[in-house]
Amino acid sequence: MPATKFLCKDGNTIPIRQCLKQCPNAQRCMFLPTLRSVADSLDRKLDKPSVTELIAGTRETYLKQRCDYAVDPMQQLYAVHGTAVHTIQEGHNQGNIITEERLADSITTGKFDLYGQIVDLSDNTLGDYKVTSSYKLMKALGFYKVDVPTGEVYKTGLKKGQPKTKKEWRTDCVHHLLEWAIQLNYYRILLEQARFKVKEMVIQALCRDYSLRMAAERNITRPLYLIRINKISDRWIKRYMAAKAMRLKRALKENHLPERCSVRERWHNRKCESYCDVAEFCPYGRLMKRTAVNAA
Ligand code: SF4
Ligand code: SF4
Repeated sequence: MPATKFLCKDGNTIPIRQCLKQCPNAQRCMFLPTLRSVADSLDRKLDKPSVTELIAGTRETYLKQRCDYAVDPMQQLYAVHGTAVHTIQEGHNQGNIITEERLADSITTGKFDLYGQIVDLSDNTLGDYKVTSSYKLMKALGFYKVDVPTGEVYKTGLKKGQPKTKKEWRTDCVHHLLEWAIQLNYYRILLEQARFKVKEMVIQALCRDYSLRMAAERNITRPLYLIRINKISDRWIKRYMAAKAMRLKRALKENHLPERCSVRERWHNRKCESYCDVAEFCPYGRLMKRTAVNAA
């Protein structure tokens, strides 16, 4: 079941339909058409779990299908922003380009953003739009800082005699983009099953906080990056997704709460504390929220 309620900024919840009809407050928290597009983006009309639902933690996806949960429309704006990026480019996809086709197999279903002649003369690139933060981009691009000796030493103070260092950026760290890579690789598999050849996979990542100083401090110097995604073995990816689909299906059938999401899926607890829409229905989520409040 998709989210059925909005969480208002005063902490109250309201059925989405009722909010769209009439806000009980003197003024809406955002324009009505924006609220309508947020509501529309939540509407899930699928008969099987999508690629993105399977990539998320099984417990999170299970709770989203079982619980009558609320979402904060403010937190959904970036998802709507992502859809808007697609819409802006609609009408400019002439030539050998296919967009937003939904494909399915026996495990899952997924809608890719773009396929065709999108980055070079090859006509078989699979593309995906992302609107993301400078932090996530820094991680995805493998940027990190190291201390490099300047050749000078401190002449006074506590560090007297010690070599001076300066921070320098390196770009050869592990690229933390496994979830994006699984998503694109599964779309590739779906396309190949439909007899389309995929030569490469590329993400066009738009940085939503590019104009902030924080982005420059993370070495993000452009508003947009193209990130090439490596191929993951079909065998591994299909086994991984089939196992997750099976776990979800069994939990839904037997009506039991799956084990908590993995450390990666719950972003080392950051998701449970602040970003999981179903945390209030999850014992671990409630614990993490309480711990975060007590620590504050
Ligand atoms: S417009 Fe905003 S404040 Fe009003 S009911 Fe809807 S979500 Fe709540
Ligand atoms: S609160 Fe954490 S563990 Fe629970 S469903 Fe959400 S992400 Fe998963």
